Amino acid sequence: MRIALIAHDKKKGDMIDLCIKYKDVLAQHELFATGTTGTMVMGETGLKITRMKSGPLGGDQQIGSMIAEKKLDVVLFLRDPLTAQPHEPDVSALLRLADVYCIPLATNVASATIMLDYLKELSEEK
Ligand code: PGA
Repeated sequence: MRIALIAHDKKKGDMIDLCIKYKDVLAQHELFATGTTGTMVMGETGLKITRMKSGPLGGDQQIGSMIAEKKLDVVLFLRDPLTAQPHEPDVSALLRLADVYCIPLATNVASATIMLDYLKELSEEK
């Protein structure tokens, strides 16, 4: 599957922890990420990730455009609901497109964990 990883600044640590825990599962998929999230996850895990621009500089819009072009299957977006984001309109647009195209979208660690556990189960059935 084609999976996008995005984490707001205060959630990047959580994203790295998740990617370390599920590294073997994630390694079986094609990974994309916004710029800073991708750089940090790659640095900590060695996973191969195609990086877009940083979120506030258009990365969220690039991910949204991939959703619209049906180039993504899953989005893991660890949002920070307690900090104002300068690119909030881009974040909302991305979330909206995920619903328009009915793409599985996790916005916190609990839902991301459920999705990754599911992907792990799928890979173990093979
Ligand atoms: P970043 O973007 O990975 O480049 O920090 C994430 C975001 O804030 O949308």
